[in-house]
Amino acid sequence: PNAWLLYCRPGFEHDLVAELCTKLEAKGSDAVDRLEWQMDPFSGYVCASLPAGEPANVLHQALRLNHLIFARQTLVALPPLTALAPDDRIGPIVEQVLASGWSFESICSEQPDTNEGKALSGLGKALQRPLESVLRKRGALKRRAGKRQLHLFWTAGNAVQVAMSFPGNRSEFPNGIRHLRFPHEAPSRSTLKLEEAWHEFLPRDRWEDALYDGAMAADLGAAPGGWTYQLVQKGMHVYAIDNGPMSPALMKTGQVEHLREDGFVWTPPVPLQWLVCDIVDRPERVIRMIERWLLSRWCRFSVFNLKLPMNRRWEEVSMCLDGLEERLNEAGITHVMRCRHLYHDREEVTVFVELMD
Ligand code: SAM
Repeated sequence: PNAWLLYCRPGFEHDLVAELCTKLEAKGSDAVDRLEWQMDPFSGYVCASLPAGEPANVLHQALRLNHLIFARQTLVALPPLTALAPDDRIGPIVEQVLASGWSFESICSEQPDTNEGKALSGLGKALQRPLESVLRKRGALKRRAGKRQLHLFWTAGNAVQVAMSFPGNRSEFPNGIRHLRFPHEAPSRSTLKLEEAWHEFLPRDRWEDALYDGAMAADLGAAPGGWTYQLVQKGMHVYAIDNGPMSPALMKTGQVEHLREDGFVWTPPVPLQWLVCDIVDRPERVIRMIERWLLSRWCRFSVFNLKLPMNRRWEEVSMCLDGLEERLNEAGITHVMRCRHLYHDREEVTVFVELMD
């Protein structure tokens, strides 16, 4: 297999490719010059092919999903199958899979996160069982195969790309999407962005230590309170900084102090556990403010959004993150920083920073 298939939010294909090329070059890979890209705007995926004989596994392993921003899923792929006959879509798939020599423990059917893509999910589901049955009989689908999963990525009713994912370097969710249930009491849908960030950046066994009852937090740009709601649910006390009104139900909990101040200049009376920020402003400005918090050690954990209404989103994000990284390092502040374009993010990415000592 010499293709590398990655899913993303439709409209972010060129940002993902720019990110992949920059990161491969930074790793000293010379593959970038030989890659052929398939990256249709608003398709919801990109595919990089190497010349015949050069396996894509090397690229796939070099850039791990955890450390990518714009990718929802990363897979090693076979060449796309097109013009499948409606009366025998399964035959050519089985043939290609057997020829590849792959073995795997499970199969999933997926499609791009577009309207056309969603219309294909029924077809994918309908074909999954029959495919499983044939591939099991032919020995490719088996009980023990290193938790590898076969992905059937349907891009049209007669076109599919067959790919493989590996444990430890993949999203465990269908289509790379973590769906979350919207809590009806929450004052805004934004609430899901903070919840998703916690799932994404904090392993479950760390929640008790990081998101505990009685911890103190600041929420900059808090109104109407979607993020504050999440903090309050965890039992935290929250300084909610915003000129706008907060949800009355949230205020009634007694856990929220609403201050109509400027989030860019407000400073906390004591160091806090959490700083979260969802203010819509220039990324550079938000980064400088967060930097001040971290250099002053006013919080241990931070989650913030960088809004990206511009065209060159990867360039903007990488400039901001590199700057922050550099200044934290100069100050000798040990930290973990991660950034992802979450499913519930739109024209924005979510950054997580934890100070280590
Ligand atoms: N996270 C919120 C939620 O889940 O409900 C939504 C936040 S909304 C996207 C952005 C908020 O930032 C607005 O309520 C706006 O009033 C506030 N804002 C903008 N500039 C601000 C500033 N300089 N200081 C504090 N808040 C600001």
